[in-house]
Amino acid sequence: MMPRILIVGAGATGAACANILRQRLLQNVELVMWDKSKGTGGRMSTSRSPDNNLCVADLGAQYVTVIPKYAEKHARYYKDLTTCGLLEPLTSKIDGMKSDSYEPGTKHYVAPKGISSLVKHFIKQSGIDVEFNHFLSKLDTVEDKSLSDVKLYASGHKEGSPDATWDSVKPFDAVILTMPLPQLMKLPGTTQEYLAQHPDTKQQLESACYSSRYALGLFFSPGSDIDVPWDATYVTGDPCIRWLAVDNRKRGVKESSELGASMVVHTSVPFGIKYLETDKNEVQGIVMEHLRNLVPNLPEPASIKCQKWRYSQVSTPVEGTPGCVFLTKLPSCAILATGDAFTHSNFDGCLSAAETTCEQLLAYLKETGQVGMESSSGL
Ligand code: FAD
Repeated sequence: MMPRILIVGAGATGAACANILRQRLLQNVELVMWDKSKGTGGRMSTSRSPDNNLCVADLGAQYVTVIPKYAEKHARYYKDLTTCGLLEPLTSKIDGMKSDSYEPGTKHYVAPKGISSLVKHFIKQSGIDVEFNHFLSKLDTVEDKSLSDVKLYASGHKEGSPDATWDSVKPFDAVILTMPLPQLMKLPGTTQEYLAQHPDTKQQLESACYSSRYALGLFFSPGSDIDVPWDATYVTGDPCIRWLAVDNRKRGVKESSELGASMVVHTSVPFGIKYLETDKNEVQGIVMEHLRNLVPNLPEPASIKCQKWRYSQVSTPVEGTPGCVFLTKLPSCAILATGDAFTHSNFDGCLSAAETTCEQLLAYLKETGQVGMESSSGL
């Protein structure tokens, strides 16, 4: 029987895992993907203007920085993404970008269609139909007659409706968890039981730290004049705003008679932490006040989206793991935790985490006789 694998999270790590597993196991694997949100991308998310489908804004990751080591290690992904036109060299004017702080040969890329297009591409290639609005609320191992009969079930509910629950009818042979670690550690059932029995692993996972910040996406009607001397800028000296981008220009896309401009504002981390529990509308008002001081001639946006990133970038990753950890490893089923917290908080960090996870999972599936020898050697 082919292994049935649940990937939790349709962000960059989950999508890359799906891509690699499909490439390695072809049709000899059943891949299922759940995400609690209603769209693809996770922290590499792109929002659409409510009025104009063409106008988009990257609310999380802004651009992709590739140091020479990863240009080589991840060459196959970069070749694919640039050939498809999903990644293009960054040519826009970004003030305050410290080019000399990067090692020689480092390249920066933007995603003209929005950063989530990279994640969507991996998912499309894997052939998975993501089940959105699926919040994984529990993992349970259920023992049958012997240990080799232990089955792994997942329960979920619709995001925002904890009463509308369901259980997976068929068990999974493996589950890959990609959500930020503080969220993973709250997950009841088998993962918590495992962490209670393995305090060293629990401590390791608890050592990961994340920054918090807010992002605002502003969408302007066609014809609005955004008169600023940069395409994007790092902001210094403002207690609230750290990053401003005319997002379409940052992505190398000009405004037109159909396409209005979009602007992205990222707050500083201290601001994000201070206002973490404040009402979002209030936060939006404060950020807009600061924005109007920084860009006094800004036209009125047609709409604004305010996004809270409680878990934004990883400031302290988990140490001492290859890029993932097993949170259950039985002869019949396994749970793996992965994501940027196990490597570093950018696109290459997600690709590295996904590669290690798939390597470890394929070795496990081979050991337990769930896949043939040829599927599990070298990525
Ligand atoms: P995530 O993207 O967090 O994916 C996890 C997914 O799991 C999410 O889609 C979430 O909805 C889902 N999920 C969580 N809990 C559950 C549950 N219980 N059930 C079902 N689904 C669940 N990187 C760069 O390379 N360049 C940048 O310029 C850059 N800037 C950034 C700016 C900001 C503001 C932020 C927030 C991030 C930035 N990053 C940047 C970092 C980059 O976005 C992350 O490293 C990357 O997106 C992490 O991907 P991931 O798949 O590991 O996790």
